Amino acid sequence: MIVNFPSELIMQHPFVAGVAGVSAGAALAIWYGVLYSGSNVVAPVIKTIYPHKAVALTFDDGPTPGFTDRVLDILRQQHAHASFFLIGSQVKQYPELVHRMIAEGHTVGNHTWDHHHHGVWHGEAYWRDQLQRTSAALAEIIGREPTLFRAPMGFKTPPQARAVRKSAMRYIAWRVRAWDTLKISPRTICRIVTSQIRPGDIVTLHDGLEPARRNCSQESTIQALPEILKILKSRGLASLSLEQALNSPVYQ
Ligand SMILES: [Zn+2]
Repeated sequence: MIVNFPSELIMQHPFVAGVAGVSAGAALAIWYGVLYSGSNVVAPVIKTIYPHKAVALTFDDGPTPGFTDRVLDILRQQHAHASFFLIGSQVKQYPELVHRMIAEGHTVGNHTWDHHHHGVWHGEAYWRDQLQRTSAALAEIIGREPTLFRAPMGFKTPPQARAVRKSAMRYIAWRVRAWDTLKISPRTICRIVTSQIRPGDIVTLHDGLEPARRNCSQESTIQALPEILKILKSRGLASLSLEQALNSPVYQ
C-alpha cells in the first residue's frame, strides 16, 4: 500500500520518515518485480536472443482476422520470421491462422486464454487454467504444446510464475516495445522500433486486439511493418522466429 504523508510530518518525525521510506521502497520493488516486463525478480525472463546478430520480432494478442493475415503476408514477402503470442479463446475461433503461422515457419506461444487484466490478482489455480486451456487449444491444431509464455502486459506475479514453472514453460519478455497498442502513427511505431533496436533484441508488436481493446485497430502496426523490416535488412539484421533463435525446444 502506498501511503501519502504530509512532508512537514516526515521532516519532524524520523519514525514517520522511516515508514514513508519503506513504503516508497516497497512500491518501487513491486513496480520493478511485477510490472516491469524485463525484471527477473519474480521469475527468470528471456528478453534477448544473444549471441545471434539478428532480432526476434514478436506479435501479441492474436490471432485476429484482418490483421494477423496481413502481418503473415508481409513477413512472407520479406522472407522474415517471427513469433506470435496467442490468446487461447481466439486460437479456438481462428485455427486456420495458427496453421498458417506454423506452415510459414513462425513460432507460436501462449498468451493466456482471455488476457484478462484482473488476472494479476488471481492465484496459481487461475493461471494454471489459463495456461492449460490455451496450450490444449494450440495442441489440437499443431499437435504440440508451447513452452513459451508471455504474460499479459508483461506483468508477472508469484502465483503466475509458479503456474508457468509447473507447466514447464518459460517467460519471454522483450527489450524493445513498439507501444503500438496506443493510438500512434505508423511512422512513430517505425521510429520507436528502429531507433532502439540492437542486434539480439526481442521486439514486441501487436497483430491482435485483446478483449479490452475490441474496438481498436492495429492498422498502424500493419502499415509500419514493411518499413521496419526494410530498415532492419539495411542494417544486416534478419528477423528470426524464437524456434530459430533459442537453443532449446519451443514445444513439448
Ligand atoms: Zn497482450
